[in-house]
Amino acid sequence: MPRKHLGQNFLSDPSILSRIISAADLTSDDTIVEIGPGHGHMTRMLAERVKRLIAIELDHDLYKRLTRDFIAYNNVEIVHGDVLQFPFESLDIFKVVANIPYYITTPIIFRLLDAKQNLRSMTLTIQKEVAERIVALPGGKDYGVLSISSQYFTEPELKFIIPKEAFRPVPKVDSAVIHMTIRGIPRVTVRDEKLFFRIVRMAFSQRRKTLANSLNSLDKDIKDTLSEAGIDPRRRPETLSIGEFALLSDFMTP
Ligand code: SAM
Repeated sequence: MPRKHLGQNFLSDPSILSRIISAADLTSDDTIVEIGPGHGHMTRMLAERVKRLIAIELDHDLYKRLTRDFIAYNNVEIVHGDVLQFPFESLDIFKVVANIPYYITTPIIFRLLDAKQNLRSMTLTIQKEVAERIVALPGGKDYGVLSISSQYFTEPELKFIIPKEAFRPVPKVDSAVIHMTIRGIPRVTVRDEKLFFRIVRMAFSQRRKTLANSLNSLDKDIKDTLSEAGIDPRRRPETLSIGEFALLSDFMTP
């Protein structure tokens, strides 16, 4: 029985799995981390293509089965545990390819962005709605902290949609495959990255408010600072490009 609380919606259609693997742009020299291998369908296809595969599964029964199924594969390590606790920082250069558990999509993405030092790319099957937020441009309701964080550190590309009927059990929403290539240098240069993200988070925490209102606890002269940066204080956060947030952040950096 699939464990709903572990986000178990399995994908076994070989043609869809092949498309995901093509989107990941792998080489035979790659080390791959697969999050939530489940029954191991994609695990097997990956194992045949890459040098080393680390597959992290939280479900103990699935883990035991995977350990048995992959005993003859010298290049596969099955790890039992929670991906959010995995020490990605201890790995050499690696890529992530995974159909991830949807109850922790955003924490996984932020965890991987945190561990970006040796990460080269992530190819993730996630909820379509989250994929749309990742690639969203300024001006719409999808644009927010996840779009800016993803686009600041990576080049995200929405590759294709997977209809919900392809999964077992069938989930409530359609999925999408997103490929995110980690940038060598961030999309924009800022003098204080911590402050940049603080401003972004604070602005979007009250996205209906004007910037002058939502950012006033960061700077008592926020109206003047915004005007000096050439940004109308009456604008709302979803209208600002990443470049404009960077500019504002640099104006606020002492
Ligand atoms: N990759 C398989 C597939 O495509 O059929 C399974 C995908 S299913 C959406 C998510 C998988 O992640 C399940 O096998 C589930 O047990 C596992 N999982 C759930 N929470 C996890 C966690 N915190 N860490 C690692 N794996 C987890």
